[in-house]
Amino acid sequence: MTDAGPPPESGVVWLLGRPAAEALKKRLAAQVASWSGPRVPGLAVVLVGEDPPSRAYVRSKVKACREVGIASVQINLPDTASTSAVLSAVEALNRDPAVHGILVQLPLPRQVDAAQVIAAINPAKDVDGLHPDSLGRLVSGRPGLVPCTPRGVMTLLDYYHIPVAGRRAVVLGRSALVGLPLSLLLLHRDASVTVLHRQSPRPWEQTQQADIVVAAVGHPGLVPGAWIRPGATVVDVGITRTPSGLVGDVSPEVAGVAGALTPVPGGVGPMTVATLLANTVQAAGGAVDVGA
Ligand code: NAD
Repeated sequence: MTDAGPPPESGVVWLLGRPAAEALKKRLAAQVASWSGPRVPGLAVVLVGEDPPSRAYVRSKVKACREVGIASVQINLPDTASTSAVLSAVEALNRDPAVHGILVQLPLPRQVDAAQVIAAINPAKDVDGLHPDSLGRLVSGRPGLVPCTPRGVMTLLDYYHIPVAGRRAVVLGRSALVGLPLSLLLLHRDASVTVLHRQSPRPWEQTQQADIVVAAVGHPGLVPGAWIRPGATVVDVGITRTPSGLVGDVSPEVAGVAGALTPVPGGVGPMTVATLLANTVQAAGGAVDVGA
């Protein structure tokens, strides 16, 4: 699939991320504008190294902050930065009252202990939702900051009125970033959830029964049309860079079987960025209606 967008000929409903993300950003901008006095939500993004995709992600996050009135700062550290250098940057941001959200762009260079860095973030500022405290809150169903991509997927499903309660959902992938938190969010919304991973036998036996299939693996074309029940909703979180552009985990033929499908690019991606803004406004003290 190219930037030209999804092919128009199939009968599938395309779950486009941009309109849902724009609707959320509009609500956030109105909320931030309504705050009186000098209360401006602030996001700090820590970027270690020169990885081009990471730089592009950070650029789009900083630009999106401006759109809704969030102040952002970017801390750049060299590729050779040590764990303690990254920890010092995080600790300074923990102390800074103008910073409500801290995001350390992942992946970090090999020599940096990512788990230690994430655990050092003040949980109240953990807008990526990856701190053990945030994940514990999610497991126990307590309010907290939820990882951006999974929360964004839920917002997208709600925007397009895809029912979740009482439905069978299959999530392919179980990372702390996407698959696992998304499984919990679906479960908290009363879906019956099956989580599949690299060692799951005969995954199609599960996906063929599902009303909602989420692929969050990073393996282009992993999900063929034959795995999908006709009319099911398919969410393609996967992003792989290829010479012909970004591709998801879902094979193009799924568009001929599914009832609703997210394109790649232009599906889940815009929701991830918009949800980061929602988490930052929430961390700054706003009760955020993400529509989910
Ligand atoms: P990850 O590598 O941390 O996790 C991948 C997961 O897939 C693992 O749990 C693994 O067990 C599972 N897996 C591997 N092979 C499998 C198979 N054959 N069947 C079922 N499960 C299998 O990756 P991640 O960080 O969770 O990201 C997953 C994908 O989502 C990547 O392509 C990533 O680029 C993309 N992503 C997209 C967004 C977005 O905004 N759209 C955000 C985050 C990640």
